[in-house]
Amino acid sequence: MLNIVLFGPPGAGKGTQSEKLLSVFGLVHLSTGNLLRAEMANQTELGLQAKSLIEAGKLVPDEVVIGMIAKQISSHPDAKGFIFDGFPRTVAQAQALDTMLAEYHTGISCMLSIAVGEDELISRLLKRAELEGRADDTPATIQARLKEYNDKTLPVADYYAGQNKLLAINGVGAVEDIFKRIQDALAPLTA
Ligand code: AMP
Repeated sequence: MLNIVLFGPPGAGKGTQSEKLLSVFGLVHLSTGNLLRAEMANQTELGLQAKSLIEAGKLVPDEVVIGMIAKQISSHPDAKGFIFDGFPRTVAQAQALDTMLAEYHTGISCMLSIAVGEDELISRLLKRAELEGRADDTPATIQARLKEYNDKTLPVADYYAGQNKLLAINGVGAVEDIFKRIQDALAPLTA
């Protein structure tokens, strides 16, 4: 299986690059952000609980997202692999993911870490706010999300670096050029 963790700060282009990866490699896309937004839209209990945290730019509790991912993995028994987008965002989530995948006799193939400078991120997120109207793309929430990222999520890169699985990708430039960098980085794993 090809199991990819797509990593990077909010606004790095994880969603855009995921879509391109899916079409080329036929993987199942698991985005905890999308799953949580669906729960909110359906006004489920989980969605209602997550709403205030998401709108404050805070991470939702580990057990909530770990449970959602476990359910998704078990409901795709024939997947050729998964793209994890926006998950794991804490070291505890990364450890739980390793344990879950081991139950299926598989593991993470690599982490693609997309790097973009903070000024560029903020301007991309504000532009996305105009286009998509996401409730958590306001200036105050963006600051809170970047803080959560720096405090809680950055250590996840060290976790995968420690397993020799981190592939750093320059995330600035045209979408196609960034995707080419990703394909080049993945070439040794997909040949
Ligand atoms: P995203 O669309 O990935 O930027 O996620 C939007 C929001 O959903 C985040 O700012 C968090 O509040 C929440 N969220 C998404 N994924 C996770 C995760 N793996 N752990 C905790 N919170 C998450």
